[in-house]
Amino acid sequence: MRTKSIIKIFFLLIVPLIVTSCSRGEEPHYSMQEFHMGTIITEKVYGENAEKAAREAMDKIVGIEGLMSLDAEGSEIKKLNDNSGKSWVELSPETIYVLEKSKEFSDLSGGTFDITVGPLVKAWGISTDNQRIPGDDELKNLVSLTDYNDLLIDKSSNRAMLKREGQMVDLGGIAKGYAADCAIEIYKKHGIKSAIINLGGNVKVLGSKPDGTPWKIGIQNPRAPIGKIVGIVEVTDKTVVSSGDYQRYFIEDSVRYHHIIDPRTGRPADSGLMGVTVITDSSIDADALSTAAFVLGLEKGMELVESLDGVEAVFIDVDKKIYVTDGLKGKFIFEDESKEYEYVEER
Ligand code: AMP
Ligand code: MG
Repeated sequence: MRTKSIIKIFFLLIVPLIVTSCSRGEEPHYSMQEFHMGTIITEKVYGENAEKAAREAMDKIVGIEGLMSLDAEGSEIKKLNDNSGKSWVELSPETIYVLEKSKEFSDLSGGTFDITVGPLVKAWGISTDNQRIPGDDELKNLVSLTDYNDLLIDKSSNRAMLKREGQMVDLGGIAKGYAADCAIEIYKKHGIKSAIINLGGNVKVLGSKPDGTPWKIGIQNPRAPIGKIVGIVEVTDKTVVSSGDYQRYFIEDSVRYHHIIDPRTGRPADSGLMGVTVITDSSIDADALSTAAFVLGLEKGMELVESLDGVEAVFIDVDKKIYVTDGLKGKFIFEDESKEYEYVEER
């Protein structure tokens, strides 16, 4: 917790001072970087109202965090969780929207995406000072508490309720996607034609780069420091969202315990994958889908993604083999400095 606070203070106080604006030789742009939603958020916005648009988008993200974080005092999700098994809670339309979207993707993914994993996420304590391996009985008990069907939503009155006491919603697998969608809408409102936002691996771009070429988004090497990639996708007006076992994890007795929980076992998903990247139009969709596909594994995850129009994906398995959906064949740029990965275009 202490380290997290120091990082947060660094990003809140120091980084805004070194924000770049209008570097020489480049299109006029405004960049900013802050720490919110448990991650580093970077914006690069081009054009006349760039600074205003970037600031407004960042403020919106702070607002979303305030509504949807698990622990923040006054957060709507905390209120929903605190009243589980007791009473209906009135929520803002945007929280209701994210809850509804979550349930839609739970249905679509056979329950592998399930925001009621909250108690399990807490029990594992991943990315806190209390990380631990819960016992079998504890996990069994918490798995029985995990069921998105127990999240009741009454859209007409903007109310929701968790049926059983102890149940908890955690929007960590979808809220960043929603935030990215909101940021892009704010850029558009300000007449921006070209921008990119990255919320810790959850990327969305508006238009193309100012010179008219597509944005090049690197796919993280899951076993190398941040920034080392295994490939590139070129995109215009799209989102590129990655989920993986390399994002929040701890290692004990050589076993990697990561943050994506399989709701059926209560344990970090052991699906044979190290990472999944989803490319599509909507970032909220991509966020839910990349988490779900990670839990489902290569075969079923690929099947799910291929069943959806306009959705592409890159899968990296534990044998360091990379697979892509049909729509990415011939387009995915395999670029592996480590020379450890193999790109398998035909399965
Ligand atoms: P992501 O990085 O988008 O794949 O989301 C992972 C985060 O979502 C975790 O840190 C948890 O907060 C939450 N989460 C973990 N497992 C699941 C799951 N099976 N379905 C939905 N959310 C999950
Ligand atoms: Mg996700």
